[in-house]
Amino acid sequence: MSSDGQNQHRPRRGVMFVISSPSGAGKTTLCRRLISEVPGVQLSVSATTRSPRPGEADGADYHFRSVEQFEDMIDRDEFLEWAKVFKNFYGTPRSEVEARLVAGTDVVFDVDWQGARALKTIRPGDVCSVFILPPSLAQLKQRLEGRPGADEKSVQSRLDGAGQDILRWGEYDYAIVNDNLDTAFAELRAILYVERNKRARASLGIAVDQLLKDARVATKTQSGSATGEGH
Ligand code: ADP
Ligand code: 5GP
Repeated sequence: MSSDGQNQHRPRRGVMFVISSPSGAGKTTLCRRLISEVPGVQLSVSATTRSPRPGEADGADYHFRSVEQFEDMIDRDEFLEWAKVFKNFYGTPRSEVEARLVAGTDVVFDVDWQGARALKTIRPGDVCSVFILPPSLAQLKQRLEGRPGADEKSVQSRLDGAGQDILRWGEYDYAIVNDNLDTAFAELRAILYVERNKRARASLGIAVDQLLKDARVATKTQSGSATGEGH
């Protein structure tokens, strides 16, 4: 295996890498880093009715939509899942997913516990889910306050909601404490590398058939050797 965890010669189905945390614990930071540093990983860009924060771009961070536009997307069945979070709607467009998985691209989903639960239910074989925990509530508050565009009301409502998110951590496949960012990132990347090699998504059938065929030939040769053939 090459050192970056990529096995480019080996076709496989992409991983649906689902990441959740209480708001402010660092999942956006970790997901962005994964996408920029690990080849073969793309972000599922959600649609939302919330306003952009400073520095956020339409189409890159979210597809920013009006409530009417979002409801039209629901009516047209364009979402794999959608949920209401902090009085705004958020949804995963179907268009962000299937073609990429088939092409062997891993897709990262930054979604809340409702989204994680829905995706795991819809695609149990594709999803690997990770919950990011903050080291403490005090540090969570600090991070929320330090985020661009933070105001007292939004910080408080996110802190109030943190407990409800943390309650669901037991539904996830993995949990990481985001204390030191580099350590948390290394752990997240390691989980993805492991998941890439899960037997069910590895598309190794043809390669293994060949190995088995070769093994039978080798067995014959060996037994031939044992009887003196080939000397
Ligand atoms: P989330 O997406 O979970 O709401 P963000 O990724 O936006 O959280 O992170 C919230 C804030 O905390 C950001 O300003 C980010 O730079 C900062 N942050 C993330 N991880 C760490 C960390 N390990 N140590 C210190 N600050 C962090
Ligand atoms: P934020 O407004 O801080 O970007 O996101 C608020 C919450 O909505 C976060 O927990 C984030 O993971 C979640 N979220 C973002 N996109 C989606 C989505 O498409 N579906 C669901 N269910 N949650 C989402």
